[in-house]
Amino acid sequence: TDPRGSFHACVDYWAERRPEHIALEDADGSYSYSELAEKSTALAKAFVGSGLKTGDRIAWLGKNRAAYAMLMVAASRAGLVIAPIGWRLALPEICYILQDTGAKWMLSEPDFATMARDAKEKCPELETIVCTHGCEHLTSLVDWMAAQPNDAELPPTDPENGVLQLYTSGTTGLPKGATLCNRNLFGLRQAVEESDYDWARLDENDKGLVVMPIAHIAGSGYTSMFLHAGATAYFLPEYDPAGVLDSIEAGVTNIFLVPTAIQMLINHPSAAETDFSRLRYMHYGASPMPLALLRQAMQVLGCGFVQHYGMTETTGTFTCLHPSDHDPEGNKRMRSAGLPMPEVEVRIVDSDNASVATGEVGEIVTRSKANMLGYWKQPEKTAETVDPEGWLHTGDAGYMDEDGYVYIHDRVKDMIISGGENVYPAEVENTLYSHPAVLEAAVIGVPDDKWGEAVKAVIVPRPGHEIESDEVIAFARESLAVYKVPKSIDVIPEMPRNASGKILRRELRAPYWEGKDRQVN
Ligand code: ATP
Ligand code: MG
Repeated sequence: TDPRGSFHACVDYWAERRPEHIALEDADGSYSYSELAEKSTALAKAFVGSGLKTGDRIAWLGKNRAAYAMLMVAASRAGLVIAPIGWRLALPEICYILQDTGAKWMLSEPDFATMARDAKEKCPELETIVCTHGCEHLTSLVDWMAAQPNDAELPPTDPENGVLQLYTSGTTGLPKGATLCNRNLFGLRQAVEESDYDWARLDENDKGLVVMPIAHIAGSGYTSMFLHAGATAYFLPEYDPAGVLDSIEAGVTNIFLVPTAIQMLINHPSAAETDFSRLRYMHYGASPMPLALLRQAMQVLGCGFVQHYGMTETTGTFTCLHPSDHDPEGNKRMRSAGLPMPEVEVRIVDSDNASVATGEVGEIVTRSKANMLGYWKQPEKTAETVDPEGWLHTGDAGYMDEDGYVYIHDRVKDMIISGGENVYPAEVENTLYSHPAVLEAAVIGVPDDKWGEAVKAVIVPRPGHEIESDEVIAFARESLAVYKVPKSIDVIPEMPRNASGKILRRELRAPYWEGKDRQVN
């Protein structure tokens, strides 16, 4: 068995072997593995000593900081569950999540002290809010707590104990709280590191940039990868392309970004002068990667590319498109989400839960140690998502080819049925993205008397370009079957997105469907 089966076990393991090596770092400072082991133990004791019990939730409202990762390690030691809340959310959304967690405490950064106070007013059942009164940074709070005299006894480690409660992005509806335990976070890691994937063999020379929100699995889960390997996790408080370019110059070797963040990065004026030679891998995922953007990014960055397909509920990646499958010379694999990770099973099923034939489209389902414990306080919803055999239903439509590569078509809920034909928005969007005047595209179904639903494209033009609807439609017609071609186009200045950078098609659809029911199969 892996001796690094929890956040704190990873830290203790490397504290013995690489005590001085930097585990966590941000602009304010860093923690070596031995410091992290020591401080997280003191903090865990302070938590337990203050009356928190195994399974209690602690909410966190703040940006990506080394101190937050320290909290994850401490929580894991103390048997507590950390629920990071996206700081970009509005007060009612924050309160919704806060109430759902049933958190005893909320920790926040000074920048969010007002928000935290407002939340406390709306959520009186929240017992304590510990803000960083008078502290410059959360780091000081951590130091303060760690300095409290405390000799509380820590509970025994249980790999099945929840450690993180992450809320899904809320792309298709209200966010759901997925409870992830240490087994979910670390159960597959050893097999992945021992696989023959070049990108997965991390060592002390690796420094991963954690810049996607830590409230998302692409932030918190990505951190666990570096702690497990005894490498360094570097935190940028929030995404900004210039900051990422600086971090690359300063020597980060691995980065995870969502496609829209990659687009902003490579189009940033400083990208042309940046030295990318130390960047080993650009990891991407969380929403569909337009092929044209992927090709351009590979050219600009010149590093290895790794695509991750996963969900909050699967603790992130369950299929992966490896660097060797990123062949820009028109290789069809570039459209794939890759192969199941080691020790992960993937099937494609029909609505009766029976496997479909190779190449046939169905719902993607997966089973592994990384599948969540469940949705917090929602046993019915959990049962709808994870069947009795342990297969987790992704809600994504896709197929598998004869070599086992998975291709994602789109979310089942977003599929458009036009004149009886199934249209997957992502495919149409991919075509639109290759049009020179298109910066961003989203395809939705709108009510139509003749077709049931008609395909509509919503487009954000590239600066300095204009969208000629007829011309763009004719362009799409060159590579798409006629029923997939948008019948109309809306031009808007900016896409509605959630904090994970995902386009909210439901918001684009809403005005067209007011008072009507959209049938979702
Ligand atoms: P909600 O479940 O609240 O509606 P969400 O599904 O967007 O939100 P996440 O758990 O952040 O919440 O995202 C998982 C989903 O993201 C997947 O089900 C899939 O639709 C999409 N996704 C993840 N990785 C990829 C990828 N590599 N390519 C395309 N889509 C992806
Ligand atoms: Mg989802």
